[in-house]
Amino acid sequence: MHRIAAENWYRTTHLADGISLIEEPHILPFYRCNIWHVAGRDFNMLVDSGMGVVSLREYVPLAAEKNVVAVASHSHFDHVGCHHEFEERWIHEAEASILAHPTRQNTLADPYVIDEIFSALPPEPYRSCAYHVKSAPPTKLLRDADIIDLGDRSFHVLHTPGHSPGGIALWEEKTRTLIAGDVIYDGELITDAYHSNMGDYIDSMRMLSALPVETVHGGHFPSFGGGRFKEITTHFLKEHDNS
Ligand SMILES: [Zn+2]
Ligand SMILES: [Zn+2]
Repeated sequence: MHRIAAENWYRTTHLADGISLIEEPHILPFYRCNIWHVAGRDFNMLVDSGMGVVSLREYVPLAAEKNVVAVASHSHFDHVGCHHEFEERWIHEAEASILAHPTRQNTLADPYVIDEIFSALPPEPYRSCAYHVKSAPPTKLLRDADIIDLGDRSFHVLHTPGHSPGGIALWEEKTRTLIAGDVIYDGELITDAYHSNMGDYIDSMRMLSALPVETVHGGHFPSFGGGRFKEITTHFLKEHDNS
């Protein structure tokens, strides 16, 4: 398979509300993580950091700035691969040990990472069989109801277990924006990873569905609005919640 040069690995799109999307377009959509950059007055927040197959700090100008805090929506390989490049690494306490001690199994690299998840391969010396996430011991543990205050905008940490035990979503009340990680996006949701829990997932989805959400920036696939949010949450709860 064709390989892509490091300088062409990432694509950055600036959205209107001070939020930018950084993605790895040569990974197939289902496996391609959305990396969200939120510009703040006191510091910038990066939610997730991609697979880590090309340096984010070296090749993405937004990520190279000072004062970037790398938050993890959760610890799957597609979301935390470049966390080791950042001085500040925040994650929910329930997945702190995975970020500190990642293995191919506990990050889901095994079984997901094979050449077939790419439309073109990362630069040499990348090999799918040797791929692993580097250790990035957390510098701060997040808990439900914490507030991440960037100075001029702030996000509530919502603990949203289900897809994984330490999943978080970040809720900005003022703009009614939800940065959701993998608990909700506009595509097939994963409810059966080794540490997924359906009861928790239902509770998380029920909690989220009560929020007056207007914009969702999910962990995968394009962003969507409040109408689609209602459809996805309603459909999920109808399908899975028998209580
Ligand atoms: Zn995930
Ligand atoms: Zn993911």
